[in-house]
Amino acid sequence: MTLTEGERQPQVPAFTPDTDPGDVIRWALAAYPGLTMPSAFNLNGVVLIDLAVRAGYAGEVVFVDTGYHFPETLATRDRLAARYPELSFVTLNAGASPDDGQTAPDLYAADPDACCAARKVGPLQRHLAAQQPPALLNARSRDQARTRADIPFVEEGARVKVNPLAHWTRERLEAYAREHELPVSPLYHDGFLSVGCWPCTRAVRPGEDARAGRWAGRGKTECGLWAGDGRL
Ligand code: SF4
Repeated sequence: MTLTEGERQPQVPAFTPDTDPGDVIRWALAAYPGLTMPSAFNLNGVVLIDLAVRAGYAGEVVFVDTGYHFPETLATRDRLAARYPELSFVTLNAGASPDDGQTAPDLYAADPDACCAARKVGPLQRHLAAQQPPALLNARSRDQARTRADIPFVEEGARVKVNPLAHWTRERLEAYAREHELPVSPLYHDGFLSVGCWPCTRAVRPGEDARAGRWAGRGKTECGLWAGDGRL
């Protein structure tokens, strides 16, 4: 969000490890009317969608179809869209496929940063540039990976990111999903604790963190949406 002269960022409450994520969302909805929610429909994202609806969110859920998603991810999106008709599910790059010419064949192997930039970060950045939401609701949590251990409830930067689940553990997220019978991707139960594109995701092994299966062995941990020079 770009502030004009005289504008001030809303005061962030003193959220604590005991804060109800719903309170964070309700604060965000009041502080940043018109905010939006990107999602990849992982466990965190599914929980955030449910919590957000309960808190009164009725905006967009924006998903980027890279063309390399697992069918289970697309099916999870469709199940969520059916369950939450008050939300507007937006798929960018809808119908993309590996041979659509957007990137060279197998770019994901040769240069995954360039592939993510072209097929994932770029479409979302262009959508946000057009929509200019005042903030983003995001589902990352600290225990997903060491690189996310310091995520605050509210991040400033190129855009304000509100992270209501920053402090929730995987166990807490799983318990919430069970309690509310949320449509978590079946891949999750096969060890895909964080699911991205099929060429760049494997199941997590015992003792690994939830994102260890993303770009495993390639020295890459983030797609570029939340870290790096082009981050949101
Ligand atoms: S996760 Fe892999 S296939 Fe998907 S956009 Fe990034 S590099 Fe390409």
